[in-house]
Amino acid sequence: MSGRDQASSHPSGRLRQPLLGMLRTALASLPRAALDIALPTLCVSCREPVAGDGVCAACWARLSFIAPPFCARLGIPFVYDPGPGLLSMQAIANPPAYQRARAAVRYDEVARTMVHALKYQDRTDLAPVMGRWMARAGQELLGDADALVPVPLHWRRGWSRRYNQSGTLAAVIGKSAHLPVVGNALRRVRPTLQQVGLSKADRALNVQGAFKVPPEDKSSVQGRRIVLIDDVLTSGATVDACARALLRARAASVDVLVFARVVDTV
Ligand SMILES: [Zn+2]
Repeated sequence: MSGRDQASSHPSGRLRQPLLGMLRTALASLPRAALDIALPTLCVSCREPVAGDGVCAACWARLSFIAPPFCARLGIPFVYDPGPGLLSMQAIANPPAYQRARAAVRYDEVARTMVHALKYQDRTDLAPVMGRWMARAGQELLGDADALVPVPLHWRRGWSRRYNQSGTLAAVIGKSAHLPVVGNALRRVRPTLQQVGLSKADRALNVQGAFKVPPEDKSSVQGRRIVLIDDVLTSGATVDACARALLRARAASVDVLVFARVVDTV
């Protein structure tokens, strides 16, 4: 069932909802572009019809966009401004394999809804707006980059859906930043557990050595400045393992750009 179908059966009691549902069913066989013209998009979070970007103004206001001041390395927001270029304690104590990480928003309620809708509910209409916010957050990284590499669909076992949302986001960003997307550069080389529910240390162990650049694709990353693209950054273990694999394949540098990141501090 698609997100749009779910939305049309939302028990809001509005008269237009059953009508929308009927229209959607009737138009389901039409190409996506025609459907988008025919019907308003519903806000991914509150299901109200919206004119443009998939998130209504009220839900947009509930998103926490990440802006300076933040750690120059990890992109973690600071509660006060310690001055330009300063690093967080985490970046100093436990520096990642990647150079810099940036995220568009904090991984809170609305951001989580957007990520899940893109991932599970066919809301590919969200990819352009999510990609646009990411491109803005990662402007500095993208300006220095030669190519984008999406984190492959890998350890997310047991999911019937085999849709790579990172690839979709990378395609949007690549188009707007005029950068090539190297979709096959990273492969999962051994099975791993789902990261959800694992401790930070176990997450790192779980993905250690799990990714590889196949010999035939090494030339696509060698000597290039890469920006890794993913939807969510939690502990950073996955992107760190990916960065190590790209650096082993002699990428010149690896930065990380995600849609949302978990921020522990308030
Ligand atoms: Zn809304």
